[in-house]
Amino acid sequence: MDDCIFCRIARGEIPARKAYEDEEILAFHDIRPLTPAHILVIPKRHVPSLAECTVEDAGVLGRMMVLLPKLARENGCDQGFRTIINTGPVGLQEVYHLHIHILGGPDPLPPMLKR
Ligand code: AMP
Ligand code: ZN
Repeated sequence: MDDCIFCRIARGEIPARKAYEDEEILAFHDIRPLTPAHILVIPKRHVPSLAECTVEDAGVLGRMMVLLPKLARENGCDQGFRTIINTGPVGLQEVYHLHIHILGGPDPLPPMLKR
């Protein structure tokens, strides 16, 4: 995807503050952090959203999941963290390249959704 912003970050065409990188996964700090630690974890391969994932993506998705607690700990989330995957218009997804948000910091987060 030539003009996908997260593909461009993965290719090194747009700068990002990287938190982790391997052959198939990249993690970087969100440009507009909502919490003291706010990291995005993406597969380098372009997948628009969780809705487009297939069983072929299960491996990388699993490896992303396993990475989350390590990344959270390394970035000051000692007592826990929250992960969010916004999907599609109802999920208010803004960037259509699959990403997992890691949110946290020293203090408890607000409730997930207002009742
Ligand atoms: P979502 O609403 O789940 O699609 O979240 C997209 C996230 O990407 C938002 O939290 C943005 O702040 C973040 N974002 C957009 N552009 C960049 C960028 N160039 N570098 C880092 N984070 C970005
Ligand atoms: Zn992309």
